[in-house]
Amino acid sequence: MKRLRLATPGPTEVPQRLLLAGAQEIVHHRSTEMEQLNHEVGSALPPLFGTASPVYSIASSGTGAMEAAVANCFAPGDEVLVVSNGYFGERFADMASAYGLTAHLVESPWGTSVPAEAVAAAHREHPSARGVLVVYSETSTGALNDVRAIGELFRGTDVVVVVDAISGLLVHPLDMDEWGLDVVLAASHKGFMLPPGLAFIAVSDKAWAAVERGGGPSYYWSFERLRKFYPMSSSSPAVSLMLALRESLEMLREEGVEAFRARHALLGRAAEQALLDLGFRTFIEPPHRRSNVITAALAPEGIDSGRLLKSMSADWGVTVTGGQAHLKGRLIRIGHVGAVDALDLCAVFGALELALLGCGHDMEPGTAAGAIIRTVHEEGN
Ligand SMILES: *Cc1c(COP(=O)(O)O)cnc(C)c1O
Repeated sequence: MKRLRLATPGPTEVPQRLLLAGAQEIVHHRSTEMEQLNHEVGSALPPLFGTASPVYSIASSGTGAMEAAVANCFAPGDEVLVVSNGYFGERFADMASAYGLTAHLVESPWGTSVPAEAVAAAHREHPSARGVLVVYSETSTGALNDVRAIGELFRGTDVVVVVDAISGLLVHPLDMDEWGLDVVLAASHKGFMLPPGLAFIAVSDKAWAAVERGGGPSYYWSFERLRKFYPMSSSSPAVSLMLALRESLEMLREEGVEAFRARHALLGRAAEQALLDLGFRTFIEPPHRRSNVITAALAPEGIDSGRLLKSMSADWGVTVTGGQAHLKGRLIRIGHVGAVDALDLCAVFGALELALLGCGHDMEPGTAAGAIIRTVHEEGN
């Protein structure tokens, strides 16, 4: 028997309570039941984004929401700044090019946060840039970008700040209106603990002005259509996921967002300590900020992280992710987002310890579990 465990930064494990909520009979999307559901979801989402604007839900993966933002806020030929310190930043840049925008990259190495000052400098160099595309929690490396400081730079200008908060929302504070962010994107299969398939988009007044000025061509992704039909939708919504979302919002309300965040911070500290005690090396060094969505570390000398992942999954049913691109074989990324507690983390690290022992790594069994238990005992709640 192998119990399957997902310790990935999305999709995450889905609590049974949410699976069951999604297993109800389908309600029709023009019914009063659906209207009620949309109203409930529509009133619970905006506070989580820190906005008074509506938050639109669409049937899509997170990438669809990123694409919708690029398509609606900018027109072909527009210049944008793209903050890039990982794979998802690169995805934003690729999208910008696909839509005929000129993307000026504000780059910093994978495993670092991009300083807001670098964004300010890029804007001085390209003053006609109409937007900034930035990832909050860069899931490919575990680095957090200071979107608050970046939002601050463009307050009172007409530069539209688009934030991919797909993994960062809920896990880290985000106050869209207060921080001057214009489009904030999220998705169901990260902090919301749901299956993939729903994306969320919040749009500020400043972003609406850009949309009304005219973006690129779009239909399914059109912000105008989202607004016109809100809180209903113009085409078939992902009804099962919306039913599960209502329950997820209830779970978040019960735990409280502060406690949710504190839990993730504790998991991040425990995972970091466990990795260090096992002989892994810190990947993100201060002053660069680390996300509490995943904990990434470099494998001990002589150990191929790819081999560890393969053994963890084949022998123990535990899925974690490794490094992308040039970090393949070197990095390990332990996801701990959503419905995860310290005991889940012990199971994941148990599989990692067994895989390490299988590779002949010199270590005391129970090292990681010990680190997690100590961390929780000493500073846990
Ligand atoms: C998960 C994720 C996405 C979206 O990925 P999809 O597979 O399209 O859902 C985008 N950006 C970040 C930072 C993510 O973590």
